[in-house]
Amino acid sequence: MEAFPGKERLTILRRLIAYAEKVFQLSNSVVAGVVDRRRQPRIPASHIVKSVAALFWTRMGSLNALELAAHSSFFRRWLGQSVCSADSVGRVTALMDAEGLRRGIHHLYDRLKRNKALPDQGGLGVAALDGHESHASYRRHCPGCLERTIRTGQTERTQYYHRQVTLMLLPGARPGCDPVRLLLDHEPQRAGEDAVATALRLLERVLGSYPRGFDLVLADALYSTAPLFNFLLARGKHVLTVLKDDRRNLYQDATALFAAFPAKAGSFRSRKCLWWDFPGLLSWPQVNVPVRVIRSQETRTVRRQLDGKDETPTSDWIWVTTLPEQSVSTGRAVALGHQRWDIENHGFNELVNGWHADHIYKHDPNAIECFLPMAFLACNIFQAFFALNLKPQIRKGRTRAFWSTPMAAEILDGVNPTLSP
Ligand SMILES: [Zn+2]
Repeated sequence: MEAFPGKERLTILRRLIAYAEKVFQLSNSVVAGVVDRRRQPRIPASHIVKSVAALFWTRMGSLNALELAAHSSFFRRWLGQSVCSADSVGRVTALMDAEGLRRGIHHLYDRLKRNKALPDQGGLGVAALDGHESHASYRRHCPGCLERTIRTGQTERTQYYHRQVTLMLLPGARPGCDPVRLLLDHEPQRAGEDAVATALRLLERVLGSYPRGFDLVLADALYSTAPLFNFLLARGKHVLTVLKDDRRNLYQDATALFAAFPAKAGSFRSRKCLWWDFPGLLSWPQVNVPVRVIRSQETRTVRRQLDGKDETPTSDWIWVTTLPEQSVSTGRAVALGHQRWDIENHGFNELVNGWHADHIYKHDPNAIECFLPMAFLACNIFQAFFALNLKPQIRKGRTRAFWSTPMAAEILDGVNPTLSP
């Protein structure tokens, strides 16, 4: 049965939900398998997931804002009841099983894959790994908090925070559409471990669920470590990371080669580049194969607003990778290196700044672990809807952020505030 039949489907949130039901079977497949540890649940966990999806789509920013709109006729029609209280949403999420949410995300992936909406990039499946810190606080903390000491002047204080590592799939684009970037999974960093240990745990689980989901992992300099390289090599995957640490033999040897050999001219987007590419380097013996180092010195031309004169700022990039030069040219490797920023620009920046995903909706380790995949579900569904379903003439000139306001308006339109005390 259609949740919103007839002409109501013309409004954007109703269309998004109708799309999610039709393409992903949102109610029956994506959220139906989400469970929690309550003994006698009055409200199904799937209702909570759907309510929270609406919270993210409309960018309301807090459970209290959602509670204020709880009695909207929109929710009564969609969920068959009002949204439960902010307290209840937090309490149920603290008891929720994150595995059910991961299966929901996998279901989105399966459907999109079957619909050929996740093409690889010229024979290469690409994913990006990134760490992110959610909120920091001096006061509130939970058993999952990481701690650090902050010095200001003579005083030292303990700051509490959470950090997680995330993996995002970066497929190519279907002709005429934007690419559908999918947030696949995240893993919380535990006290006493570094981000690489967290990343390995995440990759182990993701590769178990998506063994052929991608061939190459992009990451920043923090992940340029032999354990991460060897872990991926052992599983038949390639890796490309930023090379930064000038204390390393590899960096020093590469720098000597840059000085000794002339660069090739190249281009990336509108930038003129100088490229150096040295495969087969043996100066990182901890990695089980010889590695390839690529440098791109890039010059842009920018017109200054102040006086209309041209400026030519230069940026310098160095990457280390296991990608073979026979199948991945210098120019392609440079473009892949820059794609790592896609997870910043289209992943967490959008999630954190736009979707309020780093807000602590309920300060509890399990709730924090579950709110993020709920944000991923909402974000992935919206990305697919935006890229594959909205007509170009409707999308034109309107950013993704634009749509949150009309969607929130649809919900608030159904609120009938009682004016009597
Ligand atoms: Zn905490």
